[in-house]
Order: sequence, then C-alpha cells, then structure tokens
Amino acid sequence: MSKADYYEVLGVSRDATEQELKSAYRKQALKYHPDRNPGDHTAEEKFKEASEAYQVLSDADKRAAYDRFGHAGVNGGQGFAGSPFGGGVGVDLGDIFGDLFGEMFNMGGSASQRTSRKQRGDDLRYDLTIDFEDAVFGTETEIKLRRLDTCATCKGSGSSSGRGPTVCGQCSGRGQIRFQQGFFSVARTCTACRGTGTVITDPCATCRGEGRASIEFKLTVKVPPGVEEGTRIRYGGEGDAGRVGGPRGDLYIVLSIRQHDFFERQGHDLHCVIPISFPQATLGAEIDIPALDGPVSLKIPEGTQSGRELRIRGRGVRYLNEKGQGDLVVKVVVQIPRKLSRAQRELIAKLAETMIVDNKPASPGLLEKMKDLFS
Ligand SMILES: [Zn+2]
Ligand SMILES: [Zn+2]
Repeated sequence: MSKADYYEVLGVSRDATEQELKSAYRKQALKYHPDRNPGDHTAEEKFKEASEAYQVLSDADKRAAYDRFGHAGVNGGQGFAGSPFGGGVGVDLGDIFGDLFGEMFNMGGSASQRTSRKQRGDDLRYDLTIDFEDAVFGTETEIKLRRLDTCATCKGSGSSSGRGPTVCGQCSGRGQIRFQQGFFSVARTCTACRGTGTVITDPCATCRGEGRASIEFKLTVKVPPGVEEGTRIRYGGEGDAGRVGGPRGDLYIVLSIRQHDFFERQGHDLHCVIPISFPQATLGAEIDIPALDGPVSLKIPEGTQSGRELRIRGRGVRYLNEKGQGDLVVKVVVQIPRKLSRAQRELIAKLAETMIVDNKPASPGLLEKMKDLFS
C-alpha cells in the first residue's frame, strides 16, 4: 500500500509556508484528535498521518529530502521509522503539541500544575439604604449579614478528627491521573481530589469537609459625609473565609440613598424651592430658611423675579475625599394669591393704576429685558 502524499494529507500546496503548514496541521489535528474521537480508529489513523506529514514538512531538511526523493527520502538513512511515534526517533511530543494543544488538553502533567487547596474567600456585597441626611452628614449603622467563617467544630481542618487533609490515594498527591489514550498518554485532573492532591477521609459533620460554615455576623458600617448613590465602601478581609487557610475575601457595602421631601442633590449642591410673596420679591426681604443643617438667613434682593436661584455658599454637601463643601441653591418662586381680602384687593387695584404693562406678545429675550425694568 503506497503512502499518501504528505502535502495532500495536509491539504496544502507544495510551496506552502511554514505558517500554512502549521495551521493546516492544527485544523486536522483538532478534528481527528483521539481525545475528540474516542474509539474511532479511522480518526486515529488520520491523526497519525497528519502528524507524520507535519513532522516531516515542518523540518526544513526532511522536507527538502521528501521533495526530492519522496517517502524514500525520509524513511531511509536517517532512521525515521515511518510513524513519528513508532520508532525511538527522539520525537518530542511536548514540542509538537505544546503550543497546539496546551490550551485545550492538559498535556503537561507536572506536579506544578496541581491546584492548591488554599483558596481566597469570596468577596461579598451588601446593599445598604440610608437616609438623605445620613448621606450628607455621614452616619454609623450596624448591619447583619451571613458569611462563610472558619468552621468552629473542626477549626477549619474539615475533618472530624482534626487531622486535616491527607494525600489522595487515587493520584498519589499529584492532582492528575495519566493514562494511555490512543497512542499517547494524556493527563487528566484527578476527580477524587479535584486536582488538589489531597482528600479528607473523615469529613466534619458540621461543614462536610469544607472547613467553613455560614455564620451570621454584625458589622458597624461607618458612612462618611458626602457619599453618593452607588458609593462603594470596601471592608478588606470581611468577606468569606478562605479555604484551608487561604486569605479572606473582601466585603463591599454599596449605598443607595432615600429621597428627601424638600431637598435634592446635584453633585455637592443642595437644591430647594422656597415660596415668597409678591411684596417680598418686589421690595426685597431677609427670610429664614430651614436648611438641612439648621436655619439659614437668605437675602432676597429688591426686584427678584420668580424662579430665580439664590446661592448660599458653603451650605451644601461636603466633598467625600477632599476639603470643601458645595452650596445651598434656593429657587424662589413668587406666589400669586388666589384669594384676597377686600382691603388687599383695593390696595392692588390702586397699585394696578400705577403699573402699566404693554400686553403685547414679547419674545423671550424681550421679557428678560423687561425684568430689568422692574429691578
Ligand atoms: Zn467543620
Ligand atoms: Zn487525587
């Protein structure tokens, strides 16, 4: 039976580049790999064929000899045994397959690949809702949550005798089991110890060998002044306990802030709306406003228009991570009385005789100018 042409086996032209050879082989190898076609001898043969073709064509000297003399050129004097896996030709499987299969098949099998039992605990998230004022001024509050802690029964060893993990009998502590599949050996993660190399033979009844158990705990959360919706506070090492002495995870408190009936935040500024009377707006006034942090005096200038925003410096929200504070922004809205006493009505009628307004359409720009007429 004559051997198939190496170029045909790989499906490349005779002048294929090294890269073309490699990707052609990769395609075939992935398709016919014994791991993917268990028990399929045709696939195994195809895999061997492709491997042999690649083995020869990827070597410049061997390729030259093959180009010149065909199969006789490479099967001859150099002791090449036909199948790259058959003879003791010093074929290094690791070299050929390392980069091709390294990411797909666990080819290495060295003890360094054993996954450690030690594992960092998980990070935890706790959603905390606080009042508007607490976000502005800061607060302290106690929360209760559950987390995994070192099991009190076995003191974290996971075993009822306290002896802790012992070497896995299945893999002798290597974490991997090597076996022959098709024509070469494959390493798989040991299922008995899940790759850790150790097992617990007498698991603790409380934690079932886990070494950790869910426990409710309390924590006093300090909320600094100036936090915003969604602010995260990190408590390092307050998350789940690690496995077998691994470090604890972290705890993240994620804040959400309740709305206030009268105040609103825009960045570090506090905003509110205060009604004022027509005479206060016209003549000016000094009024007391109940701000969040106590009463504050606000001067309304003569001729203040409805909707004007007056700014009181430094009465807003403190900056979270630096010095400084926002402002209190007061929007004054002039209230038009819906009901008048007889005396008020007479006064306003008299006032009206002195105030003549041109009742014609005005552009918004002109209205702005007219505001100035009154101020
Ligand atoms: Zn336990
Ligand atoms: Zn094992």
